[in-house]
Amino acid sequence: MAVDVDLGARSYTVHFQSLASVPELLSRASSGRSPGRCLLVSDENVAAHYRSPLVQGLRDAGWTVRPVVLPPGESTKSASHLHTLYDEALEWGIDRDTPVLALGGGVVGDLAGFAAATLLRGVPLVQLPTSLLAQVDASVGGKTAINHATGKNLIGAFYQPALVCADPATLDTLPMREYTSGMAEVVKHALIQAPALFAHLEAHLVPVMTRTDRAVVADVIERAVQVKADVVSADEREEGRRAILNFGHTFAHALERAAGYGAFTHGEAVALGMRAGLYLSHRRHPQALDRDRLDHVVDAIPIPGRPEDVAFEDLYAAMASDKKNRGDTIRFVLLRALGEAYVTDDVSEEEARRAWAYACAS
Ligand code: NAD
Repeated sequence: MAVDVDLGARSYTVHFQSLASVPELLSRASSGRSPGRCLLVSDENVAAHYRSPLVQGLRDAGWTVRPVVLPPGESTKSASHLHTLYDEALEWGIDRDTPVLALGGGVVGDLAGFAAATLLRGVPLVQLPTSLLAQVDASVGGKTAINHATGKNLIGAFYQPALVCADPATLDTLPMREYTSGMAEVVKHALIQAPALFAHLEAHLVPVMTRTDRAVVADVIERAVQVKADVVSADEREEGRRAILNFGHTFAHALERAAGYGAFTHGEAVALGMRAGLYLSHRRHPQALDRDRLDHVVDAIPIPGRPEDVAFEDLYAAMASDKKNRGDTIRFVLLRALGEAYVTDDVSEEEARRAWAYACAS
Protein backbone atom coordinates (compact mmCIF):
# COMPACT_ATOMS: atom_id res chain seq x y z
CA MET A 1 0.00 0.00 0.00
CA ALA A 2 1.46 3.32 -1.03
CA VAL A 3 0.61 6.74 -2.46
CA ASP A 4 2.95 8.67 -4.73
CA VAL A 5 3.48 12.41 -4.52
CA ASP A 6 4.42 13.45 -8.01
CA LEU A 7 6.77 16.44 -7.96
CA GLY A 8 9.33 15.68 -10.63
CA ALA A 9 12.78 15.45 -9.09
CA ARG A 10 11.25 15.91 -5.62
CA SER A 11 8.75 13.02 -5.96
CA TYR A 12 8.38 10.56 -3.10
CA THR A 13 6.20 7.75 -1.84
CA VAL A 14 4.00 7.57 1.23
CA HIS A 15 4.15 3.98 2.51
CA PHE A 16 1.56 2.55 4.88
CA GLN A 17 3.71 -0.08 6.51
CA SER A 18 4.99 -1.16 9.88
CA LEU A 19 7.78 0.96 11.35
CA ALA A 20 9.79 -2.28 11.26
CA SER A 21 10.13 -1.78 7.50
CA VAL A 22 11.79 1.65 7.85
CA PRO A 23 15.41 0.37 7.60
CA GLU A 24 14.62 -1.35 4.32
CA LEU A 25 12.67 1.64 2.94
CA LEU A 26 15.51 3.91 3.97
CA SER A 27 18.14 1.88 2.21
CA ARG A 28 15.98 1.79 -0.94
CA ALA A 29 15.50 5.57 -0.78
CA SER A 30 19.25 6.10 -0.28
CA SER A 31 19.80 4.54 -3.72
CA GLY A 32 22.06 1.78 -2.53
CA ARG A 33 24.40 3.96 -0.41
CA SER A 34 25.59 1.96 2.56
CA PRO A 35 24.00 2.90 5.88
CA GLY A 36 25.76 5.68 7.78
CA ARG A 37 24.53 8.04 10.44
CA CYS A 38 20.97 9.14 11.00
CA LEU A 39 19.32 11.50 13.47
CA LEU A 40 16.06 10.22 14.95
CA VAL A 41 13.86 12.97 16.41
CA SER A 42 10.78 12.19 18.48
CA ASP A 43 8.89 13.47 21.50
CA GLU A 44 8.68 11.82 24.91
CA ASN A 45 5.21 10.30 24.38
CA VAL A 46 6.06 8.78 21.04
CA ALA A 47 9.56 7.71 22.05
CA ALA A 48 8.14 5.73 24.97
CA HIS A 49 6.30 3.46 22.54
CA TYR A 50 8.27 3.38 19.31
CA ARG A 51 11.83 4.63 19.65
CA SER A 52 13.65 1.54 21.00
CA PRO A 53 12.46 -1.02 18.41
CA LEU A 54 13.10 1.45 15.61
CA VAL A 55 16.59 2.29 16.86
CA GLN A 56 17.34 -1.43 17.21
CA GLY A 57 16.06 -2.17 13.71
CA LEU A 58 18.14 0.62 12.23
CA ARG A 59 21.26 -0.48 14.11
CA ASP A 60 20.72 -4.07 12.99
CA ALA A 61 20.66 -2.76 9.42
CA GLY A 62 24.01 -1.00 9.92
CA TRP A 63 22.89 2.55 10.78
CA THR A 64 24.53 4.60 13.49
CA VAL A 65 21.58 6.30 15.17
CA ARG A 66 21.52 9.42 17.31
CA PRO A 67 18.12 9.64 19.02
CA VAL A 68 16.91 13.05 20.19
CA VAL A 69 13.82 13.16 22.38
CA LEU A 70 12.02 16.45 22.90
CA PRO A 71 9.15 17.45 25.18
CA PRO A 72 5.70 16.93 23.66
CA GLY A 73 3.43 19.81 22.69
CA GLU A 74 3.11 22.80 20.40
CA SER A 75 5.66 24.85 22.38
CA THR A 76 8.37 22.47 21.12
CA LYS A 77 8.03 24.06 17.64
CA SER A 78 10.35 26.83 18.85
CA ALA A 79 13.67 28.41 17.91
CA SER A 80 15.24 26.99 21.05
CA HIS A 81 14.31 23.38 20.24
CA LEU A 82 15.35 23.96 16.64
CA HIS A 83 18.76 24.96 17.98
CA THR A 84 18.85 21.82 20.11
CA LEU A 85 18.55 19.83 16.88
CA TYR A 86 21.19 21.97 15.15
CA ASP A 87 23.58 21.39 18.08
CA GLU A 88 22.94 17.64 18.22
CA ALA A 89 23.43 17.27 14.47
CA LEU A 90 26.39 19.56 13.93
CA GLU A 91 28.37 18.64 17.04
CA TRP A 92 27.93 14.98 16.04
CA GLY A 93 29.31 15.77 12.60
CA ILE A 94 26.53 14.99 10.14
CA ASP A 95 27.09 15.33 6.40
CA ARG A 96 24.71 16.15 3.57
CA ASP A 97 23.65 12.50 3.23
CA THR A 98 22.71 12.10 6.89
CA PRO A 99 18.94 11.65 7.07
CA VAL A 100 16.79 13.28 9.74
CA LEU A 101 13.98 10.93 10.76
CA ALA A 102 10.91 12.64 12.26
CA LEU A 103 9.07 10.09 14.41
CA GLY A 104 5.96 11.69 15.89
CA GLY A 105 3.01 13.97 15.30
CA GLY A 106 2.90 17.21 13.35
CA VAL A 107 4.97 19.04 15.95
CA VAL A 108 7.97 16.74 15.53
CA GLY A 109 7.41 16.58 11.77
CA ASP A 110 7.32 20.36 11.33
CA LEU A 111 10.29 21.03 13.62
CA ALA A 112 12.54 18.20 12.42
CA GLY A 113 11.46 19.00 8.86
CA PHE A 114 12.60 22.60 9.18
CA ALA A 115 15.86 21.44 10.76
CA ALA A 116 16.41 19.06 7.82
CA ALA A 117 15.61 21.85 5.35
CA THR A 118 18.20 24.17 6.84
CA LEU A 119 21.01 21.94 8.15
CA LEU A 120 23.89 22.10 5.65
CA ARG A 121 21.32 23.71 3.26
CA GLY A 122 19.28 20.53 3.26
CA VAL A 123 19.73 16.93 4.36
CA PRO A 124 17.31 14.06 3.54
CA LEU A 125 14.08 14.14 5.56
CA VAL A 126 12.13 11.01 6.46
CA GLN A 127 8.67 11.52 7.89
CA LEU A 128 7.44 8.78 10.23
CA PRO A 129 4.08 10.23 11.32
CA THR A 130 2.42 8.67 14.37
CA SER A 131 -0.63 10.91 14.89
CA LEU A 132 -3.61 10.75 12.57
CA LEU A 133 -3.24 14.42 11.72
CA ALA A 134 0.40 13.91 10.77
CA GLN A 135 -0.37 10.76 8.75
CA VAL A 136 -3.11 12.31 6.61
CA ASP A 137 -1.86 15.88 6.47
CA ALA A 138 1.31 17.26 8.07
CA SER A 139 3.81 14.65 6.85
CA VAL A 140 2.80 15.04 3.20
CA GLY A 141 3.35 18.15 1.13
CA GLY A 142 6.58 19.60 2.40
CA LYS A 143 5.44 22.39 4.71
CA THR A 144 7.86 22.69 7.62
CA ALA A 145 7.89 25.40 10.27
CA ILE A 146 8.43 26.62 13.77
CA ASN A 147 6.29 29.16 15.63
CA HIS A 148 7.13 32.73 16.57
CA ALA A 149 5.78 34.81 19.47
CA THR A 150 3.62 36.68 16.96
CA GLY A 151 1.97 33.59 15.47
CA LYS A 152 2.08 29.95 14.42
CA ASN A 153 4.21 28.59 11.58
CA LEU A 154 5.64 32.01 10.71
CA ILE A 155 9.19 30.74 10.17
CA GLY A 156 9.46 27.83 7.80
CA ALA A 157 10.20 26.39 4.40
CA PHE A 158 8.75 24.17 1.74
CA TYR A 159 10.92 21.08 1.95
CA GLN A 160 9.71 17.75 0.65
CA PRO A 161 10.60 14.54 2.47
CA ALA A 162 12.54 11.83 0.67
CA LEU A 163 10.18 9.24 2.08
CA VAL A 164 7.12 8.93 4.34
CA CYS A 165 6.20 5.80 6.26
CA ALA A 166 2.87 6.01 8.10
CA ASP A 167 2.27 2.94 10.27
CA PRO A 168 -1.47 2.80 11.02
CA ALA A 169 -0.79 0.55 14.03
CA THR A 170 0.81 3.49 15.86
CA LEU A 171 -2.64 5.05 16.12
CA ASP A 172 -3.54 2.43 18.74
CA THR A 173 -1.65 4.42 21.37
CA LEU A 174 -2.78 7.87 20.23
CA PRO A 175 -5.06 9.55 22.82
CA MET A 176 -8.68 9.42 21.63
CA ARG A 177 -9.04 13.21 21.53
CA GLU A 178 -6.01 13.47 19.22
CA TYR A 179 -7.45 10.72 17.06
CA THR A 180 -10.89 12.30 16.56
CA SER A 181 -9.19 15.66 15.97
CA GLY A 182 -7.15 14.12 13.18
CA MET A 183 -10.38 12.84 11.66
CA ALA A 184 -11.35 16.47 11.02
CA GLU A 185 -8.63 16.66 8.34
CA VAL A 186 -9.84 13.37 6.83
CA VAL A 187 -13.40 14.74 6.61
CA LYS A 188 -12.01 17.94 5.12
CA HIS A 189 -10.16 16.02 2.40
CA ALA A 190 -13.38 14.16 1.59
CA LEU A 191 -15.45 17.35 1.44
CA ILE A 192 -13.09 19.32 -0.79
CA GLN A 193 -12.18 16.71 -3.34
CA ALA A 194 -13.37 13.15 -2.68
CA PRO A 195 -17.12 12.43 -2.73
CA ALA A 196 -16.42 8.66 -2.74
CA LEU A 197 -14.35 8.99 0.43
CA PHE A 198 -17.16 11.04 1.97
CA ALA A 199 -19.69 8.31 1.20
CA HIS A 200 -17.29 5.73 2.65
CA LEU A 201 -16.96 7.77 5.86
CA GLU A 202 -20.72 8.08 6.05
CA ALA A 203 -21.16 4.32 5.65
CA HIS A 204 -18.56 3.51 8.33
CA LEU A 205 -18.92 6.53 10.60
CA VAL A 206 -19.03 4.66 13.92
CA PRO A 207 -16.06 2.29 13.36
CA VAL A 208 -14.06 5.14 11.86
CA MET A 209 -14.71 7.60 14.67
CA THR A 210 -14.30 5.01 17.44
CA ARG A 211 -11.19 3.41 15.90
CA THR A 212 -12.76 -0.03 16.21
CA ASP A 213 -12.03 -1.38 12.75
CA ARG A 214 -8.34 -1.12 11.89
CA ALA A 215 -8.81 -2.18 8.26
CA VAL A 216 -11.47 0.47 7.62
CA VAL A 217 -9.35 3.14 9.31
CA ALA A 218 -6.27 2.16 7.30
CA ASP A 219 -8.29 2.38 4.10
CA VAL A 220 -9.67 5.80 5.03
CA ILE A 221 -6.17 7.07 5.82
CA GLU A 222 -4.81 5.93 2.47
CA ARG A 223 -7.67 7.59 0.59
CA ALA A 224 -7.24 10.81 2.56
CA VAL A 225 -3.50 10.87 1.81
CA GLN A 226 -4.31 10.35 -1.87
CA VAL A 227 -6.31 13.62 -1.81
CA LYS A 228 -3.46 15.51 -0.18
CA ALA A 229 -0.94 13.99 -2.60
CA ASP A 230 -3.07 14.96 -5.61
CA VAL A 231 -3.54 18.53 -4.43
CA VAL A 232 0.13 19.00 -3.57
CA SER A 233 1.27 17.39 -6.82
CA ALA A 234 -0.84 19.94 -8.71
CA ASP A 235 0.36 22.97 -6.72
CA GLU A 236 3.40 22.39 -4.54
CA ARG A 237 3.82 25.91 -3.18
CA GLU A 238 0.20 26.99 -2.66
CA GLU A 239 0.12 29.36 -5.59
CA GLY A 240 -3.40 28.24 -6.51
CA ARG A 241 -5.27 24.99 -5.96
CA ARG A 242 -3.47 23.96 -2.77
CA ALA A 243 -5.36 26.73 -0.95
CA ILE A 244 -8.48 24.51 -0.94
CA LEU A 245 -6.79 22.50 1.81
CA ASN A 246 -7.66 25.49 4.00
CA PHE A 247 -11.37 24.64 4.00
CA GLY A 248 -12.58 25.46 7.53
CA HIS A 249 -9.21 26.93 8.41
CA THR A 250 -10.07 30.64 8.24
CA PHE A 251 -12.37 30.18 11.23
CA ALA A 252 -10.15 27.47 12.77
CA HIS A 253 -6.92 29.49 12.88
CA ALA A 254 -8.85 32.46 14.26
CA LEU A 255 -10.50 30.34 16.96
CA GLU A 256 -7.20 28.79 18.02
CA ARG A 257 -5.70 32.24 18.31
CA ALA A 258 -8.67 34.01 19.94
CA ALA A 259 -9.37 31.21 22.44
CA GLY A 260 -5.66 30.77 23.22
CA TYR A 261 -3.64 27.93 21.74
CA GLY A 262 -4.48 24.65 23.44
CA ALA A 263 -8.11 25.47 24.33
CA PHE A 264 -9.18 23.57 21.24
CA THR A 265 -7.11 21.09 19.28
CA HIS A 266 -6.44 22.09 15.69
CA GLY A 267 -8.84 19.40 14.47
CA GLU A 268 -11.66 20.55 16.77
CA ALA A 269 -11.20 24.09 15.49
CA VAL A 270 -11.22 22.80 11.91
CA ALA A 271 -14.45 20.87 12.54
CA LEU A 272 -16.14 24.05 13.79
CA GLY A 273 -14.67 26.00 10.89
CA MET A 274 -16.00 23.45 8.42
CA ARG A 275 -19.50 23.81 9.89
CA ALA A 276 -19.26 27.56 9.35
CA GLY A 277 -17.89 26.92 5.86
CA LEU A 278 -20.76 24.56 5.05
CA TYR A 279 -23.25 27.19 6.21
CA LEU A 280 -21.71 29.79 3.88
CA SER A 281 -21.46 27.29 1.03
CA HIS A 282 -25.07 26.21 1.40
CA ARG A 283 -26.31 29.81 1.30
CA ARG A 284 -24.62 30.23 -2.08
CA HIS A 285 -25.38 26.81 -3.55
CA PRO A 286 -28.53 25.51 -1.81
CA GLN A 287 -29.53 23.21 -4.65
CA ALA A 288 -26.12 21.55 -4.93
CA LEU A 289 -25.43 20.91 -1.25
CA ASP A 290 -27.31 18.67 1.16
CA ARG A 291 -26.17 20.47 4.29
CA ASP A 292 -27.76 18.04 6.76
CA ARG A 293 -25.92 15.16 5.14
CA LEU A 294 -22.57 16.95 5.26
CA ASP A 295 -23.10 18.33 8.77
CA HIS A 296 -23.88 14.83 10.02
CA VAL A 297 -20.34 13.62 9.30
CA VAL A 298 -18.66 16.81 10.55
CA ASP A 299 -20.72 16.64 13.75
CA ALA A 300 -19.32 13.20 14.53
CA ILE A 301 -16.10 14.97 15.63
CA PRO A 302 -16.56 15.74 19.34
CA ILE A 303 -15.95 19.33 20.51
CA PRO A 304 -15.24 19.32 24.24
CA GLY A 305 -14.80 23.12 24.64
CA ARG A 306 -17.24 26.06 24.50
CA PRO A 307 -16.56 27.98 21.27
CA GLU A 308 -19.51 30.27 21.97
CA ASP A 309 -17.49 31.82 24.82
CA VAL A 310 -15.16 33.41 22.24
CA ALA A 311 -16.55 36.82 21.24
CA PHE A 312 -17.15 37.05 17.51
CA GLU A 313 -15.33 40.42 17.44
CA ASP A 314 -12.16 38.73 18.72
CA LEU A 315 -12.59 35.91 16.24
CA TYR A 316 -13.07 38.31 13.34
CA ALA A 317 -10.05 40.39 14.34
CA ALA A 318 -7.97 37.20 14.36
CA MET A 319 -9.35 36.24 10.93
CA ALA A 320 -8.38 39.63 9.55
CA SER A 321 -4.77 39.15 10.63
CA ASP A 322 -4.37 35.62 9.19
CA LYS A 323 -1.13 35.27 7.22
CA LYS A 324 -3.01 33.53 4.41
CA ASN A 325 -5.00 36.67 3.55
CA ARG A 326 -4.05 38.77 0.55
CA GLY A 327 -4.21 42.52 1.12
CA ASP A 328 -7.18 43.61 3.23
CA THR A 329 -9.57 40.84 2.25
CA ILE A 330 -10.23 37.68 4.24
CA ARG A 331 -10.01 34.49 2.20
CA PHE A 332 -12.48 31.65 2.69
CA VAL A 333 -12.65 28.25 1.07
CA LEU A 334 -16.21 27.22 0.20
CA LEU A 335 -17.86 24.33 -1.61
CA ARG A 336 -20.01 24.69 -4.71
CA ALA A 337 -20.82 20.98 -4.41
CA LEU A 338 -19.50 17.99 -2.48
CA GLY A 339 -15.92 17.55 -3.70
CA GLU A 340 -15.73 20.94 -5.42
CA ALA A 341 -13.95 23.59 -3.38
CA TYR A 342 -13.01 27.14 -4.36
CA VAL A 343 -11.46 30.20 -2.75
CA THR A 344 -13.38 33.46 -2.32
CA ASP A 345 -13.11 36.72 -0.43
CA ASP A 346 -16.77 37.51 -0.95
CA VAL A 347 -18.04 36.97 2.61
CA SER A 348 -19.26 39.94 4.64
CA GLU A 349 -18.58 40.34 8.35
CA GLU A 350 -22.29 39.92 9.07
CA GLU A 351 -22.44 36.69 7.10
CA ALA A 352 -19.35 35.37 8.87
CA ARG A 353 -21.05 36.21 12.19
CA ARG A 354 -24.13 34.20 11.22
CA ALA A 355 -22.00 31.31 10.02
CA TRP A 356 -20.11 31.27 13.29
CA ALA A 357 -23.34 31.33 15.33
CA TYR A 358 -24.54 28.36 13.27
CA ALA A 359 -21.27 26.48 13.89
CA CYS A 360 -21.44 27.10 17.64
CA ALA A 361 -25.02 25.87 17.83
CA SER A 362 -23.99 22.36 16.74
P1 NAD B 1 1.40 16.68 18.10
O1 NAD B 1 2.57 16.42 17.29
O2 NAD B 1 1.54 17.59 19.28
O3 NAD B 1 0.81 15.28 18.59
C1 NAD B 1 -0.33 15.28 19.42
C2 NAD B 1 -0.04 14.54 20.74
O4 NAD B 1 -0.08 13.15 20.48
C3 NAD B 1 1.32 14.82 21.34
O5 NAD B 1 1.19 14.83 22.74
C4 NAD B 1 2.16 13.61 20.91
O6 NAD B 1 3.20 13.34 21.80
C5 NAD B 1 1.12 12.53 20.93
N1 NAD B 1 1.33 11.42 20.01
C6 NAD B 1 1.59 11.48 18.68
N2 NAD B 1 1.58 10.25 18.17
C7 NAD B 1 1.32 9.39 19.18
C8 NAD B 1 1.15 7.99 19.28
N3 NAD B 1 1.19 7.21 18.19
N4 NAD B 1 0.93 7.45 20.49
C9 NAD B 1 0.83 8.24 21.59
N5 NAD B 1 0.95 9.57 21.56
C10 NAD B 1 1.19 10.13 20.37
O7 NAD B 1 0.18 17.27 17.25
P2 NAD B 1 -0.43 16.86 15.83
O8 NAD B 1 -1.88 17.07 15.97
O9 NAD B 1 0.10 15.57 15.36
O10 NAD B 1 0.17 17.99 14.87
C11 NAD B 1 -0.12 19.35 15.09
C12 NAD B 1 0.97 20.18 14.45
O11 NAD B 1 1.00 19.88 13.06
C13 NAD B 1 0.74 21.67 14.58
O12 NAD B 1 1.92 22.28 14.98
C14 NAD B 1 0.38 22.11 13.17
O13 NAD B 1 0.78 23.43 12.90
C15 NAD B 1 1.11 21.10 12.33
N6 NAD B 1 0.55 20.88 11.00
C16 NAD B 1 1.41 20.91 9.96
C17 NAD B 1 0.94 20.70 8.68
C18 NAD B 1 1.90 20.69 7.53
O14 NAD B 1 1.45 20.63 6.38
N7 NAD B 1 3.18 20.72 7.78
C19 NAD B 1 -0.42 20.44 8.46
C20 NAD B 1 -1.26 20.40 9.55
C21 NAD B 1 -0.77 20.63 10.83
